[in-house]
Parts: sequence; structure tokens; C-alpha cells
Amino acid sequence: MRIDILTVLPEMIEGFFDCSIMARAKKKGLAEIVIHNIRDYTTDKHHRTDDYPFGGCAGMVMKIEPIDNLITKLKSERHYDEVIFTTPDGEQWNQKMANTMSMCENLIILCGHFKGIDYRIREHLITKEVSIGDYVLTGGELAAAVMADSLVRIIPGVISDEQSALSDSFQDNLLAPPVYTRPAEYKGWRVPDVLLSGHEAKIRDWEFQQSLERTKRLRPDLLEGDGI
Ligand code: SAH
Repeated sequence: MRIDILTVLPEMIEGFFDCSIMARAKKKGLAEIVIHNIRDYTTDKHHRTDDYPFGGCAGMVMKIEPIDNLITKLKSERHYDEVIFTTPDGEQWNQKMANTMSMCENLIILCGHFKGIDYRIREHLITKEVSIGDYVLTGGELAAAVMADSLVRIIPGVISDEQSALSDSFQDNLLAPPVYTRPAEYKGWRVPDVLLSGHEAKIRDWEFQQSLERTKRLRPDLLEGDGI
């Protein structure tokens, strides 16, 4: 899978993709994350990527031209499954969307800034609009990083123990069971006996009951209808 992230602040997220599991996915050739600076695609001699809004409202708006130049160039090089815009009024990102989109081969994620982007970009170039939650960020970079992280970690082979991604919260509409590690007792706080029993079937059953109980208590909505 290849994800092209389009931003005016590449330095904000470059380091993120050079760490831990994201870096390992790149190294293994399972995910290619390419970060582009929109500023490199302006024809304006001051490399301006934003301008004053028509109508005189407050804030600056990202210009069409550099974004169109960059998207057009990328689309001439390969086919993209989706051109995504990160925006608070988009469809809310969740595990189901991550699962579906992790099957894609090539994705573009455009990060907005300032007041937003010229609406004509959304009308003519964007195929999907995604929000990471009902709050407003200063830019789309964190949203792009959240989406790319949740996509890359479920690509088979990225996490060494594949089962581990499948047993996380929201897969099967259940929250994950609690996890513990050594020591088995700390300050008198004991790990549940069943986990030390060595009895595989009993342990799996305990984990399932814990998942069910925690989901009923913390996120009953997941058990209603189609869940997320
Ligand atoms: N004026 C806009 C908000 C602009 S915030 C509005 O009221 O809807 C600047 C940029 O940050 C946006 O263009 C978007 O790319 C990004 N952003 C902010 N909040 C976000 C969220 N919850 N999810 C995804 N992207 C977000």
C-alpha cells in the first residue's frame, strides 16, 4: 500500500513515520508513505499556498493551483483508489473504514490548514472526506497520521503477531480484554488466576467474557445493530 500525504508542514509528521511500527512497515516494503510539500508546487514566486477569502470573512484559504498541480502529477504516475480530504465535516473515521481502506493500493490524503481549502478542490478533486472526531484541529496532519497509522498496522505482516491486530478493540464490535505481564503479583495486586492456569480454552473463554462485559458496560452501542 502507498499513501501520499499532501501538506504545507511536512516536518510536522515526517518523524512520526520514521518510528517504531510505521518505520518497520516501510522497511519491510509493506507500506510506502510519501510526504509532499504543497509549497513545492506553486508557480507563484513567493511560494504562497494560501490567500484571502472572497467575501471578506476572517482567516486564510488554501489556494487551488498548487494542490491541483500536485494531485494531477501524482494521478499521472499511478491510479489512486481515493483522494481523501481531512476535514471536521467529513465522514467519521473508524475501524470499519480502516479495515475497508487497508485493501486499497494507493491513497492520497490532503491536509487542510488555516480556514480550510478552496471549496472547488473538494468539488472537483476529492473523492472522500474524512473527520477524525468532532473537534477542530489547526491542520489535517494529525488526522492524516491517525488514518495512516490505523491503516498500516492492519496490513498483514506489519505487526509481527498478526493475531494481535485482529484481537484489538472494535474488531468484531468488541472492546479488547484486559492484558497483564510479569510479575504475577505486585504490591498484592494479582493477575487473574485463569491467566496463570495454562489452560488455553479457559483463557480464551475468560478473554471473550471480559470483552463482552467491558463492551456492555463501556460501549453498549457497539452491540446494537451493526455496531461501527
Ligand atoms: N474552518 C474549518 C476548520 C478548519 S481547521 C471548519 O470549520 O470546518 C484546518 C484544517 O484542519 C482543516 O481544513 C482540516 O484539514 C483539518 N482538521 C481540523 N479538524 C479536523 C478533524 N476533526 N478531522 C480531520 N481534519 C481536521
